[in-house]
Amino acid sequence: MKSALFNRQPDDKPFLIAGPCSAETEEQVLETCERLAATGKVQALRAGIWKPRTKPSGFEGVGTRGLPWLKRASELTGLPTAVEVATAKHVEDCLAFGIDILWVGARTTGNPFSVQEIASALRGVDVPVLVKNPIHPELELWVGAVERLQKAGLTHVGLVHRGFSSYGNTDFRNAPMWHLPIEMKRRLPDLPLLCDPSHICGRRDTLAAVAQQALNLGFDGNMLESHIDPDNAWSDARQQITPEVLRALIQDLVWRHEPT
Ligand code: PEP
Ligand code: MN
Repeated sequence: MKSALFNRQPDDKPFLIAGPCSAETEEQVLETCERLAATGKVQALRAGIWKPRTKPSGFEGVGTRGLPWLKRASELTGLPTAVEVATAKHVEDCLAFGIDILWVGARTTGNPFSVQEIASALRGVDVPVLVKNPIHPELELWVGAVERLQKAGLTHVGLVHRGFSSYGNTDFRNAPMWHLPIEMKRRLPDLPLLCDPSHICGRRDTLAAVAQQALNLGFDGNMLESHIDPDNAWSDARQQITPEVLRALIQDLVWRHEPT
């Protein structure tokens, strides 16, 4: 996995991370992951275990008890797993349960204390870490988060573009502001850059266009949320798609004039 996402070769197909916004139940995680693996398009599985909700009334994740579900999903599918971490305890728990890839969420990237806490917890553990852009269009905080992780000795750090918050109604949940991830790629050319169309779009009908745009702009792949029953998902219901819909979406993407 490290070599597929890092050390990328010019002919490598776009990397795809997929899975539910949130782990809800063991059955939901296992069925989603098995159906995603069956598409043959997914290189890593994702699921939120601790959910950073804007307001206190939302579903805040199943917590540590969901980690064995992901470990089992990985054993069943042979695919690596990715989980968001926001505290040193999250890091410890993910490492204890063999989670393969960690990611820093958009709300955390904007908080240097939290990023430093994560970086310090990872000192001496060279696990791959993906850093999402901060919620607001502040490139230096994004670069700074990467630097904190690299200073802790991490050599497999990647970037995820999930769009930027803006006030009021727009076509996007988080505006893509494509010039910003492009500038990030210019600043940090050796880091893989993935797009997260799910959190950019916030809805299903525009996911394909954003995923395609990312490939057109030279991104290394996408991260997409997928759920076995999207309408009844416990978080981000409007933007999730079934594994089979995801398969069709990926199949239709064009990458260097070849279907993916
Ligand atoms: C997520 O990917 O589950 C998530 C919470 O995303 P973001 O940090 O981009 O809002
Ligand atoms: Mn989500």
